[in-house]
Parts: sequence; structure tokens; C-alpha cells
Amino acid sequence: MRILGIETSCDETAAAVVALDDAGAPQILSNVVFSQIEEHTAFGGVVPEIAARAHVEALDGIIEAALSEAGVELSQVDGIAATAGPGLIGGLIVGLMTAKAMAAASGKPLLPVNHLEGHALTARLTDDVAFPYLLLLVSGGHTQVILVRGVGDYQRWASTIDDALGEAFDKTAKLLGLPYPGGPNVERQAALGDAKRFAFPRPLRGEDRLDFSFSGLKTAVRQTASAIAPLSDTDIADICAGFQRAITETLAERVGRSLEKFRTLYPQVERPALVVAGGVAANKAIRATLDELCPRHEMRLVAPPIALCTDNAAMIAWAGIERMRAGLESADAQSFAPRSRWPLDEDAAPIIGSGK
Ligand code: ATP
Ligand code: MG
Ligand code: FE
Repeated sequence: MRILGIETSCDETAAAVVALDDAGAPQILSNVVFSQIEEHTAFGGVVPEIAARAHVEALDGIIEAALSEAGVELSQVDGIAATAGPGLIGGLIVGLMTAKAMAAASGKPLLPVNHLEGHALTARLTDDVAFPYLLLLVSGGHTQVILVRGVGDYQRWASTIDDALGEAFDKTAKLLGLPYPGGPNVERQAALGDAKRFAFPRPLRGEDRLDFSFSGLKTAVRQTASAIAPLSDTDIADICAGFQRAITETLAERVGRSLEKFRTLYPQVERPALVVAGGVAANKAIRATLDELCPRHEMRLVAPPIALCTDNAAMIAWAGIERMRAGLESADAQSFAPRSRWPLDEDAAPIIGSGK
């Protein structure tokens, strides 16, 4: 089985071909990602109109590149999977409409995919992870703990009640004058700084609920920065170090509670796994924290390669394969409308014949 995947939900224009070999082992035949970061840097964040136009300009060439790198023609794929939400509506329209046109013209099945399902299932593309497992999704738009019971079978255990974790990194970077995207720059600065100089809060610490909160942390950074402004390079590095330390400690405490719940609910699962996904999973301090946390709950951490944690189309093609293999194709995919909001646990895919 071979699936072409298309991803355009944010600021990456991406296409990929993923296959299952005869033994059922997945293979990434191509994975082409065009990042629009340069077009958005001047604005300090993603500008939806610019993103949509850039997707229109880039997508055809990216799809061609993905097919030719994989060495396949469109006629040789078994389906076309495209991100149908959640994300910026302009980009979603560009990707999904392109996929619809290609599917209609070639007679191939169309698979509208939830972007979060792509992130959620990536670990099964690169590692041997069986259901059920726990997913920590930490990205620019989401911070969630999700129980993954099967393809299309998700239960959200925790969400952020305010900012997403990636958003907290990006906003902190912005107010310290570091360039967009903030996450990697904050991480770089943090490595140079003294994490003990500033005491930042640990939001929701000790609360029984499993949720996250990061806006108070961002506010504390703002207050600290304005109290000591103008900021020296050392100040910036120390603030980043303190911020990142507050994040890792908060994650350890919050996620630890979900791990405990998982172990209580599923004591029999063999090789129980916490899978981490989303762009923030690129952060080495966060990976190290989770690496240390999991064994304390007799769980293992599965972290896909960084290139597959950030937005890409291989994860969308893979979700298409998983859906097709599970018989979850929609009979009515051509009429599926892109959804800017689409919680994973609400209805992970179009219901067959629902007309949605
Ligand atoms: P979503 O998947 O929720 O729609 P998104 O697709 O924009 O959001 P990703 O592309 O998965 O999110 O991740 C981007 C986010 O990851 C940005 O907020 C970025 O700052 C953050 N990020 C990337 N690298 C790092 C890092 N090393 N440390 C911390 N954050 C990082
Ligand atoms: Mg992105
Ligand atoms: Fe994403």
C-alpha cells in the first residue's frame, strides 16, 4: 500500500509518500517539507493570508517533488491523504481542495486526515508501539494528553486551560526580543543561563486535575523582564533558563499524574508507552525530563525523530494508511469541508455517509 500525504495546516507546505511493504512494515519513500518561516519572521509570527498564498504557490511543486523522490507516479498510489483540520482555514482549503481534485481526476480514494491524528500516530510509523498508549502532544497550537486506544479512538485527558506550550515559548521569545520561531531560540539561550537566578511559578502544581496552564508563567517572565530592563545578554539567558526549568518541572508534575492514571487503568499493558509529539518535543531539556519521568512509572518514552515531530506530510500519509488499513475510509470524503477547529476526541474522521 502506498499513500500520498499533503500537509498545509500552518506554515509548512509538505507532501510525502509512505508505503507499507509486503511484510506490513512502513517505509517513508519521500518526505518533502517547505518551511515558510522566512516569509513570517518579519511579522514575529505566522500571518494567515501570507501562509495561504505561499501554500498556493508552493504546493504543486512540492507534490511533484515528493512523487518523483519516491519514484512513483500518481497512478501508482493507493490513496491521497490530506490534512482537513485543525489549522488555518486558508491553508487547509488549499491542501484539501488540491487533494480532492487529484483524487477525482485519478479515481484514487481521498482520505481527509485530522492533523492531530497525524501527530498521534507518528510513533507507530517509526517505532513498535501498540495500543493503548498515552500521547503527550506539545505543539504551537496544542498541549494535550490523549489516551490513544486505537485508530480513530481517542480520549482527551488533559488540555491547556490557556496558552499552548509552544505558544508560551514563542511569546516569551518575543518579549525578550528573540526572533521567531521562539522555541529553539529560548532553548539555545537557556543552555547559556543560570536557571536559579529567577524563580518563576509552577502553574497548577499539586492540583488533582490533569490539565496544564502556561499564561501565568509568561506573565511572570514579562514582569521580571520589565523590572530589570534594559536586558543584558546574561539577563536574557538567565530568564530563558528559569523559564525552561519552570516548564520542565511543571511538565514532570502534570504529566506524572496522567502516567499514574494510565498505569492504574491499564496495569496489564506490555511495554506501556508515553509517546511525545509536536514541535516542542524537539526541546532537549523537555525530552530529558520525560526520559527521566517515564521509568518512575514503569513506562517507556517513545519520541519520534525531530523531523517527524514537527509538521510534515509523512505523518499525514501514515494516518491515511492507518485509516485505510482499519477500514475507516469515508464513502463521502469529497464533500468533507475543512475544519479550522477539530478536537481529536470529538470525531477523529468523517463518519461514513454523514455528509460532513
Ligand atoms: P499544531 O500542531 O498545534 O497545529 P504547529 O503545527 O504550529 O501547531 P508545530 O509545528 O508542531 O506546531 O510546532 C511548532 C512549535 O514548536 C512552535 O511553537 C515552536 O516554538 C515550538 N518549538 C520548536 N522547537 C522547539 C524547541 N527546541 N523548544 C521549544 N519549543 C520548540
Ligand atoms: Mg508549524
Ligand atoms: Fe502540528
